[in-house]
Amino acid sequence: MNSCSKVDFEVSAGISSHPDFDQHENVAVHNDDCLQAIIAIHNTNLGPAAGGCRIYPYGSTHAAIADVLRLSRGMTYKSAMAGLPYGGGKSVIIADPATDKSPRLLTAMGDFIESLQGKYIAAEDSGTTVEDIKLMAKRTRYVSGYSAKEKNGGDPSPVTALGVFYGIEEAVKHQHGKSLKGMKVAVQGVGNVGINLVRLLKEAKAKVIVADANAARVAEVVRQFKVACCSTEKILSTEVDVLAPCALGGAINSETIASLQANIVAGAANNQLQSDELGALLMEKGILYAPDYVINCGGIMDIYHQQQGIRDSAEIKRKLEIIRENLSAIFEESNRSNRATNIVADELAREKFQSGKVHHVAA
Ligand code: NAD
Repeated sequence: MNSCSKVDFEVSAGISSHPDFDQHENVAVHNDDCLQAIIAIHNTNLGPAAGGCRIYPYGSTHAAIADVLRLSRGMTYKSAMAGLPYGGGKSVIIADPATDKSPRLLTAMGDFIESLQGKYIAAEDSGTTVEDIKLMAKRTRYVSGYSAKEKNGGDPSPVTALGVFYGIEEAVKHQHGKSLKGMKVAVQGVGNVGINLVRLLKEAKAKVIVADANAARVAEVVRQFKVACCSTEKILSTEVDVLAPCALGGAINSETIASLQANIVAGAANNQLQSDELGALLMEKGILYAPDYVINCGGIMDIYHQQQGIRDSAEIKRKLEIIRENLSAIFEESNRSNRATNIVADELAREKFQSGKVHHVAA
């Protein structure tokens, strides 16, 4: 699909009857010859709706809508759990990031974001880079994650990876009462977050196996970190202690759950469970699930810190400790009440954002 040619793009006026619609405050659509994009604002009780801009060649408008509705909802829950004064939002551009990106597309997206006048703040997501955000920033003030003053040029992925690493450590401590040394970890997807996670896991002396749909990426990670690799088909059922989904959503679904060998699922990807019921099935199988938006909130925390000018890495590490605290509380409550961790997390997050009070100001 070429992003600057007209595609079949229709968003039904009855979006509120979409199965993934969950009292979203606003769903804005841009559709012209240059840009087909959707911005979904789920909830702004705690502050402006913040969340990444994903560029993906969705097979249908329906798939793009489902993604943006689910992802924006997840951002509300994520920011609430991270104690940030942010609501939840997300945007998707229907295009292939490998072939369709152009300054025209990205500045048009900047205009679209600006048109919401700060109700939505965008940053990187799958398919967008720091350079893309910089182009959007030519047209809008409401983007973050591209500051030249930041160590990684503003890319939040390394901080996301650090938070995920803390979360994996917490899950291993809870499940096995030990450190990561010698534990086998499978990383599905070694993109911006996955590669940084592999580095941290290796430093902690874990045994790592990786897979990625991009063969060149796998070769680079194997060369750089001397880790094992396998096919994308095998990575979910490989015999490991921890499975870290760091690709796209839906890694845990009705087909993959039967062959999981890990007894911990803890990774960066959003919407790892294809449906909420799978959380209870994981629990029945004795698999500890670290709810995705609880463990992967390092990126949105980093976006917030960049906006606040917080750069001290010791301070950032200290703030990321909220991930261990939250997971520990969720795991304990799950044990106590015999309810799945994703259900316990949802309940905690809802209490926080529905109260309208920021519970743990991260600055
Ligand atoms: P990315 O696009 O840089 O990396 C994703 C990688 O997954 C790519 O290398 C891709 O080739 C690979 N992949 C795709 N399908 C695959 C499959 N079936 N099997 C194996 N590999 C596959 O994205 P990212 O920024 O690293 O983010 C990874 C995940 O974490 C996404 O779900 C994203 O939404 C989530 N996340 C990212 C951040 C962040 O700061 N970047 C923050 C929170 C959550």
